[in-house]
Amino acid sequence: MNKEPLSTQAEHPEFASIVQLVQSGRYFRRLAPEILCSVLKQGSLITLEKDCYLIREGSEAPPEMYILVEGSLAILSNDKFILRLDQTGDVVGEMAVIQSAPRSADVVTESTCRLIVFPAELFAVDASSPLASVLYVLFSHILAAKLRITTAQSMVHRSRRVAALGKVKVAVVDVNLADRMLAKSAVKNSWQGAKIYEFSDPSQVVDYDETSRFDLIIADIDFFGDIRRDWNRTSSLVKTMQLRGAHIVILSKSCRNPEDRKLLIKMGVDDLMEKPCTEVDLNHLIRRVQSWYYKNIELDKAEAEAETDGLTGLANRRRLDQFLDALTTVYPEEKQPFSLIITDIDSFKHYNDTNGHQMGDVVLKQVADLMMEKVRRGDLAARFGGEEFVIVLPSCGKNAALRVAETLRNAVELADFPLQEGQPGGKLTTTLGVATFPQDALDVDTLLKKADDCLYEGKRRGKNVVVAAQSRVEVQLSEFTG
Ligand code: GH3
Ligand code: MG
Ligand code: MG
Repeated sequence: MNKEPLSTQAEHPEFASIVQLVQSGRYFRRLAPEILCSVLKQGSLITLEKDCYLIREGSEAPPEMYILVEGSLAILSNDKFILRLDQTGDVVGEMAVIQSAPRSADVVTESTCRLIVFPAELFAVDASSPLASVLYVLFSHILAAKLRITTAQSMVHRSRRVAALGKVKVAVVDVNLADRMLAKSAVKNSWQGAKIYEFSDPSQVVDYDETSRFDLIIADIDFFGDIRRDWNRTSSLVKTMQLRGAHIVILSKSCRNPEDRKLLIKMGVDDLMEKPCTEVDLNHLIRRVQSWYYKNIELDKAEAEAETDGLTGLANRRRLDQFLDALTTVYPEEKQPFSLIITDIDSFKHYNDTNGHQMGDVVLKQVADLMMEKVRRGDLAARFGGEEFVIVLPSCGKNAALRVAETLRNAVELADFPLQEGQPGGKLTTTLGVATFPQDALDVDTLLKKADDCLYEGKRRGKNVVVAAQSRVEVQLSEFTG
């Protein structure tokens, strides 16, 4: 690896072009050129061949920070691709800079890459070195922005997760048949109704049906021999099992040695049990896992209730706000437009006045059920207040959103609501307004206002219609940074 300190390159013709390149990226645009120059001078330019590891997950090496000048990097966690970095001026580094408990990921070069690397000592905050503090603040800021995007992404994806509370699934992994039988019998006796899956090799758990999750994995890892020598293999196996299982118990001879136990705990194993053990010990351990499991379900339920509207079962305003906020946060990264539909029941006051508030509640619930039925998984249907609802459609442009709105309007028109004959036109209907981000607005409040204006326009036109925003935002969309 060729390393050219940029401090000695300041007079070099390439230095100016590097400064320019970095400044063209999204993070350093607002930094004064002279400050950027002094920052870059503290780094070194390196060129790395394809497939070179820049950062190794779990490595003890001190944290370094990198700015990408050319090429592309892949960020992997547990050997799974999570993110690609291919824009000049993008930053990658050890999260240790902003977190006391570092969690890093593998960073691998996808093509020949040119990067500026900053030495680890710059990130030890030293009050006597003003430049070190500037770098620390700068990179912390960039990493915090990345973290914000990652958190928002997980919130968007959370709504795509299927909350399936099916049968409890337990995987038993052991090369030894007798030991497998013992573990199976312990599970059978202490966790009624659990479905047991048997594997003789951990790689089978990894390969087994990508979509299935286990609630508990009881695994022996001894066939690896010395887990300290086989650190990488054992650790990547445990990490992969973590992705597939909620709780990992290692039941193995390796748990006898205190050093090995320490390593396994560091890897993230939840429970350890030394082999050989009795069935009573195993029963005791499984019961503990079981109580933890049901407590977690209670917590999930409480969390879901806090985000749900009591009458209709739709998301409440709080969840709606968080969801919209998350979608705008991930936009600069994912560049996926999203749409929202505001819908309001027509002449609902009349319905209440004629049939009573309680019947009104029945109708509200029925409209909400219809909406839940018509939206895709990953869309969010929320009660906006009173007899108004909002449906958020991620990765959905104006035309597709218009089709969804029309389907909803039609479904309500055709539905059989109790006592609807007394409504104007003899039917209970809705009016809908549609707006799309970022086409119609660059922030959530304006987007909601645009959709609401359309709804109002629909009411003016005689109700039971869909109206979409038509405005074009007079802003260069490429300039939008969130
Ligand atoms: P428009 O077609 O213009 O929307 O007329 P509207 O009568 O539907 O609108 P308005 O805003 O005048 O009245 C809304 C009514 O919705 C008034 C209120 O009683 C009723 N409403 C709001 N929340 C609830 C609720 O939780 N349950 C019931 N039953 N009615 C509700
Ligand atoms: Mg209303
Ligand atoms: Mg209404």
